[in-house]
Amino acid sequence: MNDCLFCKIVAKEIPAEIVYETGRTLAFRDINPQAPTHVLVIPKGHHATAAVLADADDGLADEVLKTAHAVAVLEGVADSGYRVVFNTGLGAGQTVFHVHAHVLGGRDLTWPPG
Ligand code: AMP
Ligand code: ZN
Repeated sequence: MNDCLFCKIVAKEIPAEIVYETGRTLAFRDINPQAPTHVLVIPKGHHATAAVLADADDGLADEVLKTAHAVAVLEGVADSGYRVVFNTGLGAGQTVFHVHAHVLGGRDLTWPPG
């Protein structure tokens, strides 16, 4: 997947601020943060969407979720609360087709707002 932005981050061809890493996952800060904590968690292997990842059936989706929680703990937002979002498909606003969980925290995230 030479043309995949997040594969290039895994390969260290594009810099990223890495906050956590496991054997099969990588967590790095979103370049355009929407909250004080905004970290993206990806599998190192290329899977286009959360739907593809869900079908992989090899424990990788589980590892992505565990990494998301580890990031929340490291960032100090696990107790206050955090959100994990997979935008899946164009209609949901997915722009990078290498599956990524957004981990958001550090501000009021109650929904609906107010
Ligand atoms: P999505 O719209 O769910 O596909 O999210 C893609 C996310 O990737 C956006 O929040 C972008 O800000 C983020 N992003 C794009 N390029 C980079 C990059 N080079 N490093 C870190 N985050 C990025
Ligand atoms: Zn990729």
